[in-house]
Amino acid sequence: MTRPDPRDQAALTVTVLGAVSPYPGRGVAGPGYLVEGFGARILLECGSGVLSRLVAYCDYADLDAVVLSHLHFDHCSDAFVLRYALDAATRSGRLGAPVPVWCPAEPGEVAAFMTYKDAMEARTIRPGSSMTVGGMTVTFHPARHPVETYHVTFASTEAPDDGPLLFYTADTEWYDGLPGLAGTCRVLIAEASLAARQEALATSTGHLTAAQAARLGSLTSAERTVLTHYPPDRDPADIEAEAAEASGRPVTVAVEGLRITWP
Ligand SMILES: [Zn+2]
Ligand SMILES: [Zn+2]
Repeated sequence: MTRPDPRDQAALTVTVLGAVSPYPGRGVAGPGYLVEGFGARILLECGSGVLSRLVAYCDYADLDAVVLSHLHFDHCSDAFVLRYALDAATRSGRLGAPVPVWCPAEPGEVAAFMTYKDAMEARTIRPGSSMTVGGMTVTFHPARHPVETYHVTFASTEAPDDGPLLFYTADTEWYDGLPGLAGTCRVLIAEASLAARQEALATSTGHLTAAQAARLGSLTSAERTVLTHYPPDRDPADIEAEAAEASGRPVTVAVEGLRITWP
């Protein structure tokens, strides 16, 4: 029996391919999430080790788009070798057109690498812009981080009034407008780079603590808050405990292979 293709469903499936940052740990990859449904298959972030995980779920050549929230290397390092995999797919006839790689314009010298032969083609994310893949609309809002960075929302193109099915914070510091922006999302994926006691460091480096990420979830209508982008030596149980203390609402800590589907 062939496995049903999550791309064919009128629902979203997110698979965590990697969750640690800013460098991989022993046997664990950097940030990467496979987002599938409504006729689309999108790789969100492409950190170190992500491609080695992706092949368990699909062929590189079957990606409809890659989205990079920003061009810090923990989010894009494997995109530098994705070019070779896609180039090979072009030569073998598995890839008929370049895979679009949506990323910010800055830093320009990094963005320039996202176009390669007939394998990949850079598409520039602008503040407030959106793009459509299949029946999925992906929208970008500026985050607060030392380089140009975007929050990413995913919604059904056919039911835009239902609000975003998924809000992904990317890397950002806390700011007053953030809960409103995530607002009516069904699932929140929030970065939790730092421990609760490191709030000052989080603000100065453009990141969230686990407590802030959990609080963000409790200020939205998200039925599920997934915390991610944490150091490889952090115990997920500590993140969960800090989150529970901060918000009282249960959270899920992203680990590789976590797969969630919701309508
Ligand atoms: Zn970053
Ligand atoms: Zn990062």
